[in-house]
Amino acid sequence: MLVVATVALAYSLMQIRDNSSWVRHTNDVLRLIAGIERAVLQAESGERGYLLTRVGEYRAAYETAKSALPHAIDDLAKIVGDSAEQQQNLAAVRSSIEMRLAQLQRVVELAQDDPQTSLDILEQARVDLLTQRIERGLSTMTKYEQAVLKERQRNFERSNFAAAAVATCLVILALASGCVGAFLIERQRTMARQQASDQRLRELQAELLHVARLGTMGEMSAALAHELNQPLAAIANYLKGSRRLLQDSTDKSAERIRTALDKAAEQALRAGEVIQRLRQFVSRGETEKTNERLDRIVDDALALALVVAKDRAVEVSVNLDPTAERVLVDKVQIQQLLLNLIRNALEAMEHQEPRELEISSRRGEDGMLEVVVADNGPGIDPQLADKLFLPFMTTKTSGMGVGLSLCRTIVTAHGGDIQAEPRPGGGTVFRFTIPSADPL
Ligand code: ADP
Repeated sequence: MLVVATVALAYSLMQIRDNSSWVRHTNDVLRLIAGIERAVLQAESGERGYLLTRVGEYRAAYETAKSALPHAIDDLAKIVGDSAEQQQNLAAVRSSIEMRLAQLQRVVELAQDDPQTSLDILEQARVDLLTQRIERGLSTMTKYEQAVLKERQRNFERSNFAAAAVATCLVILALASGCVGAFLIERQRTMARQQASDQRLRELQAELLHVARLGTMGEMSAALAHELNQPLAAIANYLKGSRRLLQDSTDKSAERIRTALDKAAEQALRAGEVIQRLRQFVSRGETEKTNERLDRIVDDALALALVVAKDRAVEVSVNLDPTAERVLVDKVQIQQLLLNLIRNALEAMEHQEPRELEISSRRGEDGMLEVVVADNGPGIDPQLADKLFLPFMTTKTSGMGVGLSLCRTIVTAHGGDIQAEPRPGGGTVFRFTIPSADPL
């Protein structure tokens, strides 16, 4: 396209150059024709002046004009050499001029000694109409030259129009292909961005899934440990009591039973210790705290949660305190915490219209930051209110009831606190605190 445009442009430039050289050529022809006409008239008026006055000045004027004419005719012949028609015209003019010059010459020569013959020749010239023939011939040449120029300019306009049309089409084509190119590049970029964000989402999901599994296992182990501790303590007590009852027995198997009871008590104690260690391990909650931007954590959690709610429209508003942007947390755990709360909120609003989710933060006390997740769902089931954060508490058929208990474990591991309350106007508000990383 560039090559064709360049050719069209070069062609157009060549046309312009040719056109201006034709105009110059015509001007030269017309200038020479006018010069010849002037010289003929000058020679005639010199001839007449000399015949009437015999003053040498007139003769000199005649001589000058006479000697200039052949050169002017030769010059004209050179520049109309490319046109057979003009050459023919010029040949006729040339012969008329030569004949006229011969007449003039004779008049001038005889003016002094034989004025009567001179006057006769002059009279003959009037009859011959040579001057008129010269003028007509020169006028024919002028008209021909002007007609040729006109025709050339018409052709120039036509071809220049064609070149301009080609150039315009090419410019439009170039613009259109530029637009298409830009569109394709932008689409490719958008796809690349989409792929990158999908990849990031997948990585986040995998990371959170891992933490969620660990968290759920931890919560279940803690709950089991709590539940098993009491029966184990009861077993130990029963064993101790039985041992005491057998203390004074003289039965010969009493010693063997005592030994067995001691061993059973030992094993119960060991089971207790195993459970204790399990609880310690779970409650130790090895968190790795780093300085993180809260808005990024919120964005990631929202992106993950909204993947699930894709088909349902949710009005999300995020209002984070701009004076406390950074938090000192285990990023993945806080993402998990937010993801649980947002997912619960979305599930609670399932049959709500419109769905409003609000996430905000504000600086709290003692270097903590309070984060709020609020929804306009039906609110917490009153039966669940006081045991909301205990494990295995759920109102959902497919729920496990460990999400909120995991949330509490995460918040506690960060030295914070979590609570739920009804939202004025309907819905639920969850508030939790985490350490702020910004200096107070
Ligand atoms: P699960 O979601 O598996 O039921 P959770 O511990 O996350 O476990 O939640 C426990 C229960 O708390 C839920 O079953 C639900 O009844 C209640 N709940 C949690 N979040 C909300 C909320 N935003 N609005 C109303 N009820 C909620």
